[in-house]
Amino acid sequence: MGMRQRARHLFLIARVHEVALKGANRPWFMRTLVGNLEYALSGLPHGRIQVRNLRVLVPLSELESWPAFRERLDWVFGVSSYGLALETGTSVQSLTAGLDRLLELTGPPPGSFCVRVKRTNKGYPLTSPELERILGQHIQERTGAPVNLTAPTVTYRVDLLYDRALLTGEEYRGPGGLPVGVSGRVVVLLSGGFDSPVAAYRMMKRGCFLTLVHCHAYPYVRPTSIEKVISIAQHLGRYQPGMRLHIVPIGDAQREIALAAPPELRVVLYRRLMLRIATAIAHEQGAGAIVTGESLGQVSSQTLENMRAIGAVTDLPLLRPLVGFNKDEIMAEAVRIGTEPISRIRDDDCCTVFVPLHPTAHATLEEATAAERLFDPAALVQACLARRTDYDGDPATWDVSAALLAATG
Ligand code: ATP
Ligand code: MG
Repeated sequence: MGMRQRARHLFLIARVHEVALKGANRPWFMRTLVGNLEYALSGLPHGRIQVRNLRVLVPLSELESWPAFRERLDWVFGVSSYGLALETGTSVQSLTAGLDRLLELTGPPPGSFCVRVKRTNKGYPLTSPELERILGQHIQERTGAPVNLTAPTVTYRVDLLYDRALLTGEEYRGPGGLPVGVSGRVVVLLSGGFDSPVAAYRMMKRGCFLTLVHCHAYPYVRPTSIEKVISIAQHLGRYQPGMRLHIVPIGDAQREIALAAPPELRVVLYRRLMLRIATAIAHEQGAGAIVTGESLGQVSSQTLENMRAIGAVTDLPLLRPLVGFNKDEIMAEAVRIGTEPISRIRDDDCCTVFVPLHPTAHATLEEATAAERLFDPAALVQACLARRTDYDGDPATWDVSAALLAATG
């Protein structure tokens, strides 16, 4: 009876990339991954998540939600592959019964297959190749699927532990990367455009917690960009517990800069203002870097000269994960991660208000610094930050009205 119960134990099994697991950091890495998995799976029926070596097991009680589980797994960075697994006894009989059950649940192999046995218990009476042959033959007899040892469509894995075995069926690719949180916090300058959400996604995939900062010129422009970044933040928030968004009105500051400084330098000066705002928020939150969606030469403002003139105002590393990407590559990724339909909505870029027809592509740092003697940049930053709106908690509850009120009040 006990054995038969055992044979019904069903799990989602997720594997992580071993190279990412560096010695002493491993327990913490796995804890972070489990926390993120719990967050991503919230609302779906499952048991207590367990860690075994480099695997994470999520007990499942039924299979109806399997498609939903698969979708959610795409949101958990650090998972390199995952599949359905069944816990059985270690006798050949238990193993074949378990395989039958697994095939019942997942269907026959969609092509060729092979069986790979890994023995933790080296005292097991059969060698791995012997057991692979027996179990392979069993599957072949049941399903008629051909064996292919070099390039199988499906690999059935058998992990033989001391008191039980774990059978894994078809494995699916996970998103890879590092669990969100293990690399620390970064502040992302998020516009409503296509690039910065992709840059944000890339940094989460490298294990960073995000704080998002958006600057806008409402009421000088429509509030569309604010609505868009809230949607983008909600979308990206699926990958990370504790998403934060800060909305900062800069329209008045832009107007002041426009009145004081040479027209062709305005875009660079607005960008310096945004970067100072992001840096102040980063220091508040102990973030280790600022991230933008810039890509070299993509638009006339994204030149090496302008990057230097803009980047000089921050003492934090300024990360540009898309710097070497082509626009079509960025667009393809925006489609894949689901931010493209939001970014596509037309809005008014705040950097197009109070902007001359010919902003310079080659601002020198000296020119920017000289222009800023005509106004007080630090005071502008403080004035903008005083009217910021901070969003945290459940992103589903975030509402644009708070930011609109703060911008006009
Ligand atoms: P994106 O598609 O991300 O808007 P872009 O190609 O339109 O990028 P720019 O408008 O020059 O390029 O902006 C470069 C970067 O500056 C953006 O990727 C973003 O990180 C930051 N940025 C631009 N506008 C804003 C804004 N209103 N609020 C916060 N960050 C911004
Ligand atoms: Mg933009």
